[in-house]
Amino acid sequence: MTVKAIKGAIFHLLDDPETIGADQATQYFADGMLILEDGFVRACGKRADLEPGLGTGAEIVDHSGSLIMPGFIDTHIHFPQLDMIASFGEKLLDWLERYTFPEEAKFADPAHAEECANFFLEELLRNGTTSALVYGTVHKESIDALFGAAYKRGMRIVAGKALMDRNVPEAVRDTAESGDLDSRELIEKWHGKGRLGYAVTPRFAPACSDDQLTRAGKLLAEIPDLLMHTHMAENTSEMDWVKTLYPDAKDYLDVYAKFGLLTDRSVFAHCIHTGGEVFQRMAEHGAAVSHCPTSNLFLGSGLFNLREAEKYGVKVGLGTDVGAGTSFSMLQTLNEAYKVSHLKGHALDPYKSFFLATLGGARALNMADKVGNFEDGKEADFIVLDMAATPLLKRRLKTCTSIDETLFVLSMLGDDRTISHTYIAGECRYSK
Ligand SMILES: [Zn+2]
Repeated sequence: MTVKAIKGAIFHLLDDPETIGADQATQYFADGMLILEDGFVRACGKRADLEPGLGTGAEIVDHSGSLIMPGFIDTHIHFPQLDMIASFGEKLLDWLERYTFPEEAKFADPAHAEECANFFLEELLRNGTTSALVYGTVHKESIDALFGAAYKRGMRIVAGKALMDRNVPEAVRDTAESGDLDSRELIEKWHGKGRLGYAVTPRFAPACSDDQLTRAGKLLAEIPDLLMHTHMAENTSEMDWVKTLYPDAKDYLDVYAKFGLLTDRSVFAHCIHTGGEVFQRMAEHGAAVSHCPTSNLFLGSGLFNLREAEKYGVKVGLGTDVGAGTSFSMLQTLNEAYKVSHLKGHALDPYKSFFLATLGGARALNMADKVGNFEDGKEADFIVLDMAATPLLKRRLKTCTSIDETLFVLSMLGDDRTISHTYIAGECRYSK
């Protein structure tokens, strides 16, 4: 058995601070220790309490002066959009046609897919993201490449090949049947292997025939621990299009629900142009929202109402949505989440912010029993934050008098430079 003891300041969340209060939901140890056994958390607390009980064989890792927290969980990201991130001028539907689909067409080539998958995962690690729910392209090669690369790194990644059999260019189109067969082949090969999981991934309702969505619902029902990952209510033109395609549906969510895709394993990215009764139905079914503020601002899509989702008890995680999102950094994404919330009349609390980026994301992806905080027995995915990453950050943090203020400043001024180390299951996989 390998025992490691990590020294440093430690912060993590045990629950949602908005539901049970920050005192009960958060733990902060200014002089803390995290004890790991074979890549799992065994204890987390004050160093003075834990150090005396350490056996002589424990490896001590000293991150004193830095802040240790659980790795970030990105609940919505597209790995094939690396080379068209930061593309100018369009809103969602034109942006997809002009930039995204031509780029995604390149992933029929396994060599290209593999090169991108490796870069993508390194970029996640460099930004302190240890788990993610990831879109592939329509090609099964894209997910083969991603899972292969994630397996090598021991990462907890959930992903799926995009299902899209209509209203998209031929180079990125499957058929209801081939999409189903390819998904099943990938599930057989990768789902449950190491820390990998599969998500049934319809691109969005306008790009999927009834037959395709029916098969997706069937597949989801057949295998009880798959996730379902799609987009919903991102853009007003998209909303109008869905209304034209499905005149009989009560609303956008109802389209997915009719095909059996509204479940407690379903993750819907965006959910901007919706709310009220739709959020109520999502909460009743245990479905989750991936809130992607950076992307929503970049594409001019709109402002997600986090308060409203919370009011109905919908699970919410945070997503970068790269390549419509313009940064892999969850700290930068929290920065934008704060601004979006502000425009919706609510100042997003820093504890809540870091909940969304860690344990909240784990709950949204149904993996909170495995990752998201430092409870005993969880997989030890964690990051180390450099409190002097930039001159300005160092200067501003010196004036902070509490951990919540420190967290807020980190979420405003932090980015990839702030991540000094990223650990996957207790092993250091990135160091600045
Ligand atoms: Zn997306």
